[in-house]
Amino acid sequence: MMDFFKAANPGILDLAPYQPGKPVEELERELGISNIVKLASNENPLGPTPKLRTDLAATLKESARYPDGSAFELKRRLSEMLNCATHQLTVGNGSNDVLELLGRVFLGPGLNAVVSEHAFVVYGLVTRSLGASLREIPCQNFCQDLEATLQAIDEQTRLVFIANPNNPTGTWVGKTALETFLRAVPDSVIVVLDEAYVEYVDDPDYPNGLALMDSYPNLVVTRTFSKAYGLAALRLGYSVSHPDIADLMNRIRQPFNVNSVALAAGLLALDDPDHVAEGVRINQEGLKSLNAAFESLSLSTIPSVGNFVCVDVQGDALPIYQGLLEHGVIVRPVGVYGLPNHLRVSVGTPEENQAFTTALKRVLG
Ligand code: PMP
Repeated sequence: MMDFFKAANPGILDLAPYQPGKPVEELERELGISNIVKLASNENPLGPTPKLRTDLAATLKESARYPDGSAFELKRRLSEMLNCATHQLTVGNGSNDVLELLGRVFLGPGLNAVVSEHAFVVYGLVTRSLGASLREIPCQNFCQDLEATLQAIDEQTRLVFIANPNNPTGTWVGKTALETFLRAVPDSVIVVLDEAYVEYVDDPDYPNGLALMDSYPNLVVTRTFSKAYGLAALRLGYSVSHPDIADLMNRIRQPFNVNSVALAAGLLALDDPDHVAEGVRINQEGLKSLNAAFESLSLSTIPSVGNFVCVDVQGDALPIYQGLLEHGVIVRPVGVYGLPNHLRVSVGTPEENQAFTTALKRVLG
C-alpha cells in the first residue's frame, strides 16, 4: 500500500494533534453521572449573553444563504469599539484561524518563527506545519524573556509570537519590556501580540497593544470572542494589523471562513458589555478564591492575569488529574507545554470553584 506518510508535507510528520480539554459528555458517559464540572478550556462559566437565546432564529432561517464573507457589520462595530479602520481587521473562525493565516502569509521552508517556552501550542503547530522552524526561547520565571527573544531573531525570522497573557502560564509582558522589544525588532519581522484574554487583565503595567500599532506597523494584535464573550463554540476571532497585512491575509482566507451564526452572535455579544463585565468580575473573585485555596493547601501557583491558573502539584500531575476526573471535575494537564507537575484550572462560577477545591482536597488526601 502507498505510504501516505512519505507523501505528506515533511513539516507535518513530527506534529502531535492539538489536545483539547476532555469534553463534559465524554466524562458523563464514562462515570454515568451528569453534574460534571469542567474547568479545562478557559471558557466563560457564565455562558454567552442571554440575548443569544432569542435573537438568532432569524439568522438560522437564512442558513441556505452563504454568510457575509466580508463580515461588513461586525467589522464596522469592531472598528468603532477599537478605534481602528475596518481594513485593518481580519475576522476568523476563532483566533486560531487568524493565527494560521498569519503563518501562511509569512512562513515557509527555510524561515522561522520565535516563540517562548510554555507558549500556546498552536504557534508551533502552525509554524511547523508550514515547513518553517520554531525557535523556542527559555522563560524566566515562567515569563517570556523578550531580551532573549530579540537575540534569537535572524534574517530568516518572519514572525514572533507573544501571548499576552500566555496560556497556560497566565504570565504577561509589561509596557516597558514590550516597547523596548518593539523598538529593537527589525520592521521586517511581524510581532503577533495574542490578546485572547485581554478583557480579564487588571494590571496597570499591562500594555495597550492597539495603541502601539501606529508606532509599530509590524505589530499585529489578535483577539477572540471565545473567552470573555462566551462564544467558544461558534468560533469567532479577529486581528488588527496594518492594512497591507490584512490585505495579504484576505487573499488566502477561505471566502466564507466565518459562519453567519457566529457573525450574528458576535454582534449580540458586543451589544451586551454588562455581560462581559459581570464575567470579568466573577473571574477576578474566582481567581482570588482559587489562589487562596491553593495557598491553604501549601501549593504554589504561577501568577496569572487570565481566566485560569496553573498550580504546581509537586509531582506528576497526571494521577491528580485522573483523581479529579473520578470526582467529576475536569481540569487540564499541561505536560505537553513542558509543565508536567502543573495542572491548569480555569476559573468557574463560585460553585464550580468550590466543587473543584473540595475534590482536590479529597484527591490530595
Ligand atoms: N490564543 C490563546 C493564548 C489561547 O489560549 C486560545 C484558546 N485556547 C486562542 C488563542 C485561540 O482561541 P480561539 O481560536 O477560540 O479564538
